[in-house]
Amino acid sequence: SKPTVAIVGRPNVGKSTIFNRIVGSRAAIVEDMPGVTRDRLYGNGTWLNYEFHVIDTGGIEISDEPLLTEMRAQAEIAMDESDVILFLVDGKTGLTDADEQVADLLRRSKKPVVLGVNKIDNYTRRNEIYEFYSLGLGDPQGVSGAHGTGLGDLLDKVVANF
Ligand code: GDP
Ligand code: MG
Repeated sequence: SKPTVAIVGRPNVGKSTIFNRIVGSRAAIVEDMPGVTRDRLYGNGTWLNYEFHVIDTGGIEISDEPLLTEMRAQAEIAMDESDVILFLVDGKTGLTDADEQVADLLRRSKKPVVLGVNKIDNYTRRNEIYEFYSLGLGDPQGVSGAHGTGLGDLLDKVVANF
């Protein structure tokens, strides 16, 4: 059966945007407001000769819980249900405590983790990826969900773990 990739990350880092790019449909709802209910959680992706399932864990709603509780739940689902975890962070906002806490959980799991730094929209932002080396999850891959740049390199790293 096909491998499963789970996308994990704080609200608003761009999980749904990247999910839509991978799944190749604009059907998923992307909203500016965190906490807005999303209608699509599961999709199918292809890259090179690989086919895989994709889960947008941000669409899994755990209402009225603190951010860390919600993110811990996302990470648990990803660790249980996926073969590769795509951990997405926000290069515009920079590294946050919540990123570090989730990285701790993910590092302790046996699942391979690919670290994507989203919102690297242009050349002037390219250096924003470096602070994420401190998460201890390997080389951060810059990507722009808005423009699609870096997505191929990110997916190369994902499928290399199948
Ligand atoms: P999610 O909460 O992690 O699913 O994030 P969304 O995909 O809903 O995106 C949150 C916000 O970030 C939206 O306003 C998106 O348009 C914006 N966004 C997503 N990807 C990018 C990107 O690559 N660059 C920029 N500048 N904004 C982005
Ligand atoms: Mg989302």
